[in-house]
Amino acid sequence: MLKGKTALVTGSTSGIGLGIARTLAAQGAQVMLNGFGDFEAPLAELRRAGSRVAYHGADMSQPAQIADMVRACEAEFGACDILVNNAGIQHVARVEDFPIERWDAIIAINLSSAFHTMRAALPGMKRRGWGRVINVASAHGLVASAQKSAYVAAKHGIVGLTKAAALENATTGVTVNAICPGWVLTPLVQKQVDARAAADGVDDAEAQRRLLQEKQPSLQFTTPEQLAELCVFLCTDAAKNVMGQAWAMDGGWTAQ
Ligand code: NAD
Repeated sequence: MLKGKTALVTGSTSGIGLGIARTLAAQGAQVMLNGFGDFEAPLAELRRAGSRVAYHGADMSQPAQIADMVRACEAEFGACDILVNNAGIQHVARVEDFPIERWDAIIAINLSSAFHTMRAALPGMKRRGWGRVINVASAHGLVASAQKSAYVAAKHGIVGLTKAAALENATTGVTVNAICPGWVLTPLVQKQVDARAAADGVDDAEAQRRLLQEKQPSLQFTTPEQLAELCVFLCTDAAKNVMGQAWAMDGGWTAQ
């Protein structure tokens, strides 16, 4: 379905981003991966599956590196048609205990990076008359939780950025939307499961159950594969009039 299209997925060495990269590649897209840690394994896996893939190690807190990554994607594949802004980090603390450096890093990586990638990628999408920007926000882009001020601010911010960019591009063939996952069991959330297990003196399974019970009525984690299928849908013609939305896939979290 996405044959001939190129996707750039930030933070795609792990978790949700890797799931989205796998699925877009399986749909025929050429994919540029990004993120820290082991990138050789996902590159090799996607190549074995017959996909054309590349990797750029841009640090998503660094605007110059981000611009270089978008240029490299266009140089390698001739375009950046689908941009998935997924890279993100978390830190949990009360406002008065929040390290300033963590606040700055979360705003830079979870919010400003999407401005920098879009700034670089939108001109090419508009020239070609087709583009899809998918910003991975969160249930925390729609509602808040205590001790996550920076994350909640960044995710509400990216929902606003999504709406503004969608309006600017409404007649160009480029759509900009956000997706809002609830709990997904990735390394980012496993840290919170571990903290919960330690705080409550319970095992991993019970800590997972307690996290879900607090927020997610389905009592089931959303999976990277489910989110990836939502991304594929947003890339179809059927979705070309979906603009500026913050589409939750959160087991009922934000319906409460
Ligand atoms: P993860 O920790 O598994 O993956 C994060 C990815 O971002 C990794 O590839 C990591 O290398 C990359 N990354 C981190 N800092 C980076 C930087 N400075 N430069 C480049 N890459 C960087 O986390 P995940 O749960 O898959 O999260 C992915 C996105 O989904 C994040 O934006 C997160 O906020 C969002 N999200 C996650 C959940 C969840 O429950 N896991 C829920 C809602 C939203």
